[in-house]
Amino acid sequence: MTTKTLYVLGETPPTGVVPPKMIAQVIRQERYGNPTTAFKIEEVDTPNELRPDEVLVWVMAAGVNYNNVWASLGKPVDVIAPRPRDKYFPDPSGFHIGGSDASGIVWKVGSAVNNVKVGDEVVLHCGQWSREDPVVKAGKDPMFGQSFRIWGYETSWGSFAQFTKAQAQQCLPKPKHLSWASSAAYMLVGATAYRMLRGWPPNQVQKGDVVLVWGGSGGLGTQAIQIAKSFGAIPVAVVSKDDAGEYCKSLGAKGFINRKEFEHWGRPDLRNQDSYNAWLADAKRFGGRIWEIVGDRINPQLVFEHPGEDTIPTSIFVCDRGGMVVVCAGTTGYAAQADLRYLWMHQKRLQGSHFANDVQSAEYNELVLRKEVDPCHSETFAFEDIPKAHQLMYENKHKPGNMSCLVNAKE
Ligand code: NAP
Repeated sequence: MTTKTLYVLGETPPTGVVPPKMIAQVIRQERYGNPTTAFKIEEVDTPNELRPDEVLVWVMAAGVNYNNVWASLGKPVDVIAPRPRDKYFPDPSGFHIGGSDASGIVWKVGSAVNNVKVGDEVVLHCGQWSREDPVVKAGKDPMFGQSFRIWGYETSWGSFAQFTKAQAQQCLPKPKHLSWASSAAYMLVGATAYRMLRGWPPNQVQKGDVVLVWGGSGGLGTQAIQIAKSFGAIPVAVVSKDDAGEYCKSLGAKGFINRKEFEHWGRPDLRNQDSYNAWLADAKRFGGRIWEIVGDRINPQLVFEHPGEDTIPTSIFVCDRGGMVVVCAGTTGYAAQADLRYLWMHQKRLQGSHFANDVQSAEYNELVLRKEVDPCHSETFAFEDIPKAHQLMYENKHKPGNMSCLVNAKE
């Protein structure tokens, strides 16, 4: 059979047939800056050479995450520069194809793949690691291995292209009740939220726990509220608009706090008593709002953190004794301040968390398959509008929930 060199968007090759060229949204170093200028549609070679544990997936839809805002900016790290020298996944291509969420159809499998076959409809989680990594060989959590990479951020060949190259273990069953677009929207944020809430014993969310969720209407937050609720916990959302708060309530939050009603953000000045007292008064008022919502003087056992610098002092302050502030990002800055008095005297835990392993991703996907967690798919963009979707996210102007973009799917 003669293979066409390139299939335009909307055309589909016969299952398993891989054209030599594909269409991709590509980021290059010389374009680093706003997402609207960093991404450009290009024709590139299809990544047809697979390692034994890899698969090629025909991408139906791709999810939008904050990580490719960072990739566009080239900050805080230049994701392209170190790739040719990557110890585990060297990549000389010199460009970045982002996209860390996808739904699609398995199109080709490597020689050692036995968990999926050509034609399977899948969603992909974004955790990649090398089987040669000593941590992986020792049977430990691959998330702690030096080879761990976020596919479509720390590696190229993500889902913003007609084909994506991934590891077979990333493939999980696509929920039959969801469209391609909705199926591409949830995995990265949801699995991250799952590990944050369930992955750090003994501080695993359980029945009756109050859970404070920053950015409750955002990608992570929508999933955290529903996961907490599914374990019988009491989520309290923080938002910056009342309508976003109402949305959080519709997902299962007991109530919401509009952060615009408070001013004590950022680092309190512990060396200036008057300034600190003012910070403390507002932080106590914030804590009081949690009690009001819960209907009792109960502090959060878990604080679900990602804004970082602006909010960590408050998170540590309101967290319960023996509780945990679990953080996966520092969107507002990394120089967060921890008042150690509260950490040691009240034996609170400040725990970093990053994406999720295979088991956690599969457990979270089960919640979606069982319809206990909704992807909160907010909006579908065309392939051409992948830059626009990232720009909206960068400017915090996107709708509540999780965005996705059509690639080869029509809806
Ligand atoms: P998102 O959909 O944009 O949601 C973030 C939310 O944060 C916004 O909805 C906003 O809600 C809130 N926010 C913004 N500025 C804030 C501030 N100054 N104080 C308090 N809240 C603020 O983004 P996301 O997908 O949830 O991701 C959030 C962050 O987590 C990003 O930095 C992303 O890169 C990171 N992340 C990390 C991992 C990981 O594995 N480490 C995984 C997923 C995401 P309001 O304006 O309504 O408060």
